[in-house]
Amino acid sequence: MKNLAFVQRNDARSAVGDFSPVLSVFSHYDFGNTISPFLLLDHIGPGRLLPSTRRKGVNDHPHRGFETVTIVYEGEIEHRDSTGGGGVIHAGDVQWMTAAAGIVHRELFSEAFSQRGGRFEMAQLWVNLPAADKMSPAGYQSLSSADIPRVELPAGAGFVRVIAGQFQDTSGPARTHTRMNVLDGQLGAGHELIFDTEAGDTALVFLLSGRLQFAPDEVLEEEGLAVMSSREAGFAMTALENSRFLVLTGAPLNEPINGHGPFVMNSYEEILQAYDDVKNGRLG
Ligand code: MN
Repeated sequence: MKNLAFVQRNDARSAVGDFSPVLSVFSHYDFGNTISPFLLLDHIGPGRLLPSTRRKGVNDHPHRGFETVTIVYEGEIEHRDSTGGGGVIHAGDVQWMTAAAGIVHRELFSEAFSQRGGRFEMAQLWVNLPAADKMSPAGYQSLSSADIPRVELPAGAGFVRVIAGQFQDTSGPARTHTRMNVLDGQLGAGHELIFDTEAGDTALVFLLSGRLQFAPDEVLEEEGLAVMSSREAGFAMTALENSRFLVLTGAPLNEPINGHGPFVMNSYEEILQAYDDVKNGRLG
C-alpha cells in the first residue's frame, strides 16, 4: 500500500477574476512532475454570491496545452468558448474542456444564479496533455450529473462519483488522453475506503471538508492535500469526521513542463509562440 508522502497546506486565499475566495490547492509551479499528469487545482468557495445584475466570474481568456476540469458543487457557471461550445454547468455537473492548441473562453456565474444569488462551491483541475496532443484541436465534454455514475459504499458509508477512469467496477464518462482516475466522493465518520492504483502512479487526495486519516499519526485536515508516495499500489483512508474529497490518480507523463499563466507547454519557445499567437489572433 502507498504511504502518505507529504501534506500540502496553503492557508492563503485569493481571487481569480471575480471568484473569491479561491484556494490554490496545488500547482505545477510548486510540484512540477511530482503530481503529473495533474497540473493545478483551485478550490473556489464555499462562498455566497449576493444577487446582482452584473455577471461575475472570469471574462475572455486563452488556454493552450492542457485541459481544464470544472466541478460545480453549488451554484451555476455558464461557459462560452471560441469553438462555439458553451452551456450552464449546474451543481453536480462537470465540464471537461480540452484546450489543446487553443481556446478562448469565459467562465461566469449563470444569469439565473446571478439574479437569485446564493452559496457557491466549485473546483477547477488542470490536467496536462502529452506533448503529442498539446497542439490537437480543442474540444469540450459536458458531463451532466446524470452521466456521472455514483458508487454507493456499503453500510451507508458514503459514495464515490466516477468522473474519469474507474472505481471498483464502475467506469466514468470522461474521455482522457492518458490513464487517470478523477473521483469525487463522501465518506462518513469511522469508515475506511481503499483505492486501487498502479505502482508508480501519482495519487492525490484533496479534502474539501472533514478530516481524514492515513496512518495513526497521519491526519489530513480540511482543505489540505495529501500527496501519496508513488511507490506501491493502492492506498487506504479513514474518515475521522464526515468528509468530502477529490481523489486524483494517474500515470505520470514525465515530460518537461513549461507553464506560464494560461499556457502549459514543454518548452519556453512554445510559451513565447502561444503569446505571439494570441497577439496575432491565431489562438482560439
Ligand atoms: Mn479558464
